[in-house]
Amino acid sequence: MIPKALIDRYQRHLSYLRISITDRCNLRCIYCMPREMIPKLEHVDVLRYEEILRVAGVGAALGITKLRVTGGEPLVRRDVCDLLAQLNRLPGIREVSLTTNGVLLAERLDDILAAGVRRINISLDSLKPDRFAAITRVDCFHKVWDGIMMALDRDMAPVKINVVALRGINDDELTDLAALSLRYPVHVRFIEQMPIGEAAMRPVRPLLTPEIKTLLAPMGRLEPVPASTRDGPAERYRIPGAPGEIGFISAISHHFCDRCNRLRLTASGGLRPCLLSDHEEDLRTPLRHGASDEDLAEVFLSAVRHKPARHHLAEPLHEDVASAMSGIGG
Ligand code: SAM
Ligand code: SF4
Repeated sequence: MIPKALIDRYQRHLSYLRISITDRCNLRCIYCMPREMIPKLEHVDVLRYEEILRVAGVGAALGITKLRVTGGEPLVRRDVCDLLAQLNRLPGIREVSLTTNGVLLAERLDDILAAGVRRINISLDSLKPDRFAAITRVDCFHKVWDGIMMALDRDMAPVKINVVALRGINDDELTDLAALSLRYPVHVRFIEQMPIGEAAMRPVRPLLTPEIKTLLAPMGRLEPVPASTRDGPAERYRIPGAPGEIGFISAISHHFCDRCNRLRLTASGGLRPCLLSDHEEDLRTPLRHGASDEDLAEVFLSAVRHKPARHHLAEPLHEDVASAMSGIGG
């Protein structure tokens, strides 16, 4: 019998599915993609929208309530807002959110809102246009900034701003990025760079949360924001009186695996129980060979059985993650 909830061996209740809808992107962030990105996936290998909807529907029947659409860059895929609207209409789905690099946000915002999306995460690693161009290899800081401002104007607050902390690259402006929370109702979240995909090819000593906090010390006392049931992995703080927040996502230094409620659907139809382990269950083959919903539910259950207790990135002899972040979605 198919259960109504996805509960793994460690009693974690999996209710959140992140969906990468493409491995293509209009940026080439240095920690994510090579400069000359040749998309790994042929069009035929990428799940079609009706396949994504079917997987999400089976997930919802199994107790998934929250979906996030990501990529690659989700806004480069044609008719993405139709997909967002259809995902939002699936029975049992309470929230559909989006992670984007923001480049196309201003021009797509009306359609995103019309699709019922109210929560958005935007990546922004620098406030300096030249540096932004050096990190993303595309000169388009102002487009992203306009997208953020427009999202705030259209009542999408709190807009979450994801900053990957990069040693020697943006570590001198983390206070400026954090200070956005003093001016705007944004949640600025500092993310530790993970050795995955492109970042695994060029090993660096990552800037970890304790060091990031030290760099932010000149901002004064950070007041902890009490955790709520809606909280993701971010440890949340507020500068007293600020309209926004500052968060830390410490996948390496302080893993949150014991609270992880996520599964991931990759652009090519792999169901992945853990971002930081290359184990995937293939959904594309059964989807394209007449599988029933019960068959697809079995693939979900198998992924859940394979969800590891935790990742081992902080250990010296860990295995790097070979898959590209762009196909998994972060
Ligand atoms: N293109 C969209 C974007 O950039 O927001 C969505 C996909 S991107 C893969 C999702 C998130 O993963 C982004 O916030 C990005 O900064 C983050 N990311 C990519 N590679 C990373 C890495 N090696 N370590 C930590 N975060 C990474
Ligand atoms: Fe594109 Fe996002 Fe990867 Fe940057 S992090 S290259 S915006 S997918």
